[in-house]
Amino acid sequence: AESLARAESLIRTIPDYPEPGVLFRDITPLLADRDALRATIDAMIEPFEGRFDVVAGVEARGFILAGAAAIAAGVGLVPIRKAGKLPRPAASVSYELEYGTATIECHDDIAPGTRVLLIDDVLATGGTLVAAHELVARLGAEVVGTTVLMELEALGGRALVGDVHAVFTA
Ligand code: 5GP
Repeated sequence: AESLARAESLIRTIPDYPEPGVLFRDITPLLADRDALRATIDAMIEPFEGRFDVVAGVEARGFILAGAAAIAAGVGLVPIRKAGKLPRPAASVSYELEYGTATIECHDDIAPGTRVLLIDDVLATGGTLVAAHELVARLGAEVVGTTVLMELEALGGRALVGDVHAVFTA
């Protein structure tokens, strides 16, 4: 609990990034701290322990957390990438952004029925995690949980994504 409190204090708030009016939560100071990183990863996977076969991390900051979570939980990792980065995408889902659309893709390295824990750094509007959920479902795998380092409550993503575990909220 002490390490988690310290971890929270290491999340840096940057005004007007990446554009004016946006309050960006920068998790890099937390990542750089051994105890904070360990405590945060443990807290992200703890509610799902023993109930998933693989973690799926969303590019790009989700990869960092998913890699650490996979090793901590003793499972494998499937990357969910932005369009055009994977050599053999098996599934693809497009979703709305504030301006325009985005597409995410995935290989079929998870067999149908595999229990997947979805991981990202920040839940904002929820569009990314809803799309990631749909992507995993299209491969016939089962999303058993969604976990994020931080939820930005004012953006209302929880209403879209449904049940999300968030270690920190702002
Ligand atoms: P959403 O689709 O929920 O609106 O946006 C979530 C995506 O945008 C996540 O993949 C996350 O990495 C990124 N994101 C949005 N706001 C922030 C923020 O304040 N800090 C960080 N680190 N990422 C953010």
